[in-house]
Amino acid sequence: MHEMSITQGIVEICQQNAGGRKVTEVTLEVGALSGVIPDAVEFCFAACTSGTLLEGARLVIEEIPGRGHCGSCNATFGIRNYYDPCPSCGSFGVSIVSGEELRVKELEVE
Ligand SMILES: [Zn+2]
Repeated sequence: MHEMSITQGIVEICQQNAGGRKVTEVTLEVGALSGVIPDAVEFCFAACTSGTLLEGARLVIEEIPGRGHCGSCNATFGIRNYYDPCPSCGSFGVSIVSGEELRVKELEVE
């Protein structure tokens, strides 16, 4: 499962930043275009944190919606996947503004 290794990576980053203290809450930013399914991360989190500084920590997932910018007509709009054309002019020259995030935003330690 893809999310299992991602969640393990997240747990490692949190442990490195916790400085040996117990982590009580983790806030994670997950972009809609990152290909990561929040429910699956939540599911893996309990298994990955067992026996670590994060055991029992609350996981908060903030979903970042996908946004694109059109290089042809300069419009900015919400997108659901990488291959969406511009809704205003139909151009495929769309660059991703947000939605690719996958990062630890906040850590709460004891
Ligand atoms: Zn456009």
